[in-house]
Amino acid sequence: MTRNTLHKEVVIIGSGPAGLTAAIYAARADLKPLVIHGPQPGGQLTITTEVENYPGFSKGIQGPELMQEFEEQARRFGAEFLVTYITEVDLSERPFTLRTDEHEIEAETLIIASGASAKWLGIPGEAPAPQGLGGLGVSACATCDGFFFKGKSIIVVGGGDTAMEEANFLTRYASRVTVVHRRDHLRASKIMQDKAFRNDKIDFIWNTDVTEILGTQETGVTGARLKDTKTGEDSVFPCEGVFVAIGHKPNTDLFKGQLKMDEVGYLITAGRTMATEIPGVFACGDVQDSFYRQAVTAAGTGCMAAIDAERFLDNLPVPMPSGDEITMEGELVTADHQLIVLPDGEVISNNAEAATEGASASGD
Ligand code: NDP
Repeated sequence: MTRNTLHKEVVIIGSGPAGLTAAIYAARADLKPLVIHGPQPGGQLTITTEVENYPGFSKGIQGPELMQEFEEQARRFGAEFLVTYITEVDLSERPFTLRTDEHEIEAETLIIASGASAKWLGIPGEAPAPQGLGGLGVSACATCDGFFFKGKSIIVVGGGDTAMEEANFLTRYASRVTVVHRRDHLRASKIMQDKAFRNDKIDFIWNTDVTEILGTQETGVTGARLKDTKTGEDSVFPCEGVFVAIGHKPNTDLFKGQLKMDEVGYLITAGRTMATEIPGVFACGDVQDSFYRQAVTAAGTGCMAAIDAERFLDNLPVPMPSGDEITMEGELVTADHQLIVLPDGEVISNNAEAATEGASASGD
C-alpha cells in the first residue's frame, strides 16, 4: 500500500489534556507539532459532563467544551491535527516511525499522551448516554462526579485500592455507599480496607456481580441488578448511582517491547522529567501516571514533555530515568556530571579543568 509520508519535529499521540497542553507549548515554541487524535479525540474528559475542579473555570465547564478550548488554543499557535489510528510504531532509530493505514509519519521527537481507559464491566445500561446511563448516574471517576451525588445512595463496584478510595471519597456526598465485590475478600491494601471497614457510611455486598444498571434517560439510574456468584440468585438493589472502579488500563499496547512499563503497563518516565529511556521519546498524562490521574496534572506533565522535547531538539541534555542525561547527538552525560560517553563509546571528562590539564600534559 502507498502511504503518504510526513516528517515532523514533534509528534504527539493523544489529544486529552496532556497531549493538547504539549501541543500548545510545542506550537508556541514554533515546532509545528502534529497531534494524532486517537480513537477518543479529546480523551476521557469528553465522556464526563461538568468539570468543576479545573482551575480557571469558577462556574465549571462541560468536559467536551473544555477540550474544544484546549484544541483551539493549540491550533491558534500552529498545531496540526490528524484523525487516524496508529497501527505500528518503530522506536528503534530516529526519526521514529509511526504507521497508519494512510500515512507513514517520521518524528524527530515523540510525545506519548495516549492516556488510560477506565475498565468497564460491559453490562447493559453502562454505556454513555443515550445508549446507556453513562453520565446519568454511571461513572468511573468519583473525584470528577462525586459532587453530583449529594444525599444519594450509590454503589461502587470493585475490591481494589481504587474502589476503596472511591468509596471513602464518595461518603462525603452520598447518604450511603455500598461496595459490591465479586469475591468474599478485598484485593485492596490493608490500610485502605481498614479505612473502608471503619467508615460507617460504607456497606459491603460480597460474592456478587452487577449484571445490569437500571433506569431511564429521564430518571437516571434507579438501581442495579445483582447476581450472587455462589447461589446464582438475582436481585435488584435500588440506588441512584453506580461507580465502576475495577481498574484502569493504560493505552500502551503499541509500545510493548519497545519502552519500559510497570507491571500494569504504565510507561516509566524519569523522576523530574517526562523522558522515557529512549532519547527523544517522552510520555505524559495518564499513560505514565496511575496515581493522580487528574486533568490538571495531565496538563502539567504535557507542558513538561513539550519543554523536554524542545530542550532535546535544541541539543540541551535531557535527564533520563537513570539520572544520566542524554543529548540529541546521543552523548550520555553521567548522573554525577563527571563523564561524557560519546556515541562511539569513548569516555571523556566533563570537567573543563581536567580536560585542559589532560591537553597540557600531552604536550600542548
Ligand atoms: P486492581 O486491579 O488492583 O483492582 C481491581 C478490582 O476490580 C479487583 O478487586 C477485581 O476483582 C475487580 N474487578 C476487575 N475486573 C472486574 C470485573 N469484570 N467485574 C467485577 N470486578 C472486577 O485495580 P485498582 O484500580 O484498584 O488499582 C490499580 C493499582 O493502583 C494497584 O496497584 C493499586 O494498589 C494502585 N492504587 C493505589 C491507590 C493508593 O495507594 N491510594 C489508589 C488507587 C490505586 P478481584 O479482586 O476479584 O480480581
